[in-house]
Amino acid sequence: MGKYVMSLDQGTTSSRVLLINKMGNIEAIAQQEFTQIYPREKWVEHDPEEIWNCQREVFIQALDRNNIHIEDIDSIGITNQRETTVLWDRKSGKPVYNAIVWQCRRTSEICEKLKSEGLTSMIKSKTGLPIDAYFSATKIMWILDNVEGAREKAEKGDLLFGTIDTWLLWKLTGGKVHKTDYTNASRTMIFNIHELQWDRELLEKFNIPESMLPEVEDSSFLFGHCEKSIFGKEIPITGIAGDQQSALFGQMCLDKGDVKNTYGTGCFMLMNTGDKPVESDNGLLTTIALGLKGKINYALEGSVFMAGAVIQWLRDDLRIISDAMETETMAYSVEDSHGVYLVSAFQGIGTPYWDMDARAGILGLTRGAKKEHIVRAALESIAYRSKDVLDIMVKDSGIDIRSLKVDGGASRNNFLLQFQSDITGIDVIRPQLVETTAMGAAFLAGLKTGFWSNIEELKSIWNEDRIFSPSMTEAERTKLYKGWQKAILRCCNWDE
Ligand code: ADP
Repeated sequence: MGKYVMSLDQGTTSSRVLLINKMGNIEAIAQQEFTQIYPREKWVEHDPEEIWNCQREVFIQALDRNNIHIEDIDSIGITNQRETTVLWDRKSGKPVYNAIVWQCRRTSEICEKLKSEGLTSMIKSKTGLPIDAYFSATKIMWILDNVEGAREKAEKGDLLFGTIDTWLLWKLTGGKVHKTDYTNASRTMIFNIHELQWDRELLEKFNIPESMLPEVEDSSFLFGHCEKSIFGKEIPITGIAGDQQSALFGQMCLDKGDVKNTYGTGCFMLMNTGDKPVESDNGLLTTIALGLKGKINYALEGSVFMAGAVIQWLRDDLRIISDAMETETMAYSVEDSHGVYLVSAFQGIGTPYWDMDARAGILGLTRGAKKEHIVRAALESIAYRSKDVLDIMVKDSGIDIRSLKVDGGASRNNFLLQFQSDITGIDVIRPQLVETTAMGAAFLAGLKTGFWSNIEELKSIWNEDRIFSPSMTEAERTKLYKGWQKAILRCCNWDE
């Protein structure tokens, strides 16, 4: 058995490799950014070959720079930016077009057309997803219809589709394996999350040949072996999960009612809903959390567009701070926000208001308001928005939650997490290991090979750094949250 599990963390802006030992410690990290391609406004692409080369280089760097031998690697886990779509030639292995990235809006019109055909509720009930350009289906359609020769190739069975995990798996196995896992499949808008198979009716509607699609497996599964010619040794690839689901597993949110929130540029919140999918009427996504030992766990997913991004705005645009770290001390330097609310509806507001005409505002200002109050209100806004989403999850699922596990860059902020706990009235738990996304894929891989014997062993590796418990009275919580809801309503329907 090797000494390390290797986690390939293929994100939207960079590719990373982390080597994790049996104790769950990170022994090596290598990271490299790659090119973001913007051919037109709102179009985003990546070069799949560059992603592969970048991933291979960081793989080698992680070993070389730390004097680690390839023999020491037990297995490989992959976690990836979700939904991003690659189509390549089965014979030559060459992509027929750049990867169309999840953020890319080029297929908005196709989505509008699907909506006008009345497909919304059918697609939602089969896939758990609203019709949106984020998901892979319309990206596949676009390539088939706009890239010369693509459709003919697809019809001959010579074209393959994959999300980034599938593309990397194909490259790692020297073109031998064309597979994905349930979590990634559940983001394509063509996978039936109840029947656990590609949905024939949708494939027909979207005119996507089934021969293009990868086989779908559990997230902890022997997907194949990395070719000896690539790194000098065959290594089993035994874990795959999309980034947010990987983080959910990395946080050991394994049971019904376990929730994690990632505080990055935006927030991504996922709640494990157990073995039953929960449909939301408030715009949450229903998705697959995990496939493990033949069992499926589902999740509800919600997001907040502006989280850490609000702090960046304070730094780069308002320039009232020079570093995100300062916000914690500034927020603690005042007793409260002095009645100030910052509604971060810079791009409209999502769950549960869904008003794209809402605009941001700083409300409740009096002559006594100082920049510290505004900074504090900005941090509080991240917690308020997370509570908005969390409340809907609890309402839609009917599942009570005990605590919230957190990660992401802004989860370093103690003020933010204490306020999050105060305003939700539950414990907020920050783990020692904040690299939860990469850890999730490593855990899935190592669990399959026996590097870690069972879930209990993984749970013993996962340790909390700090628990933030509520210290606010119910009356105060209610008063503050009412103020927040009032502030949001003032910002709604602004850009009529
Ligand atoms: P992403 O993966 O979305 O790029 P990260 O997880 O790296 O995001 O987190 C970066 C975000 O967190 C930035 O938007 C930054 O403003 C915010 N951030 C980082 N440190 C802090 C902090 N101490 N307090 C508040 N926000 C922070």
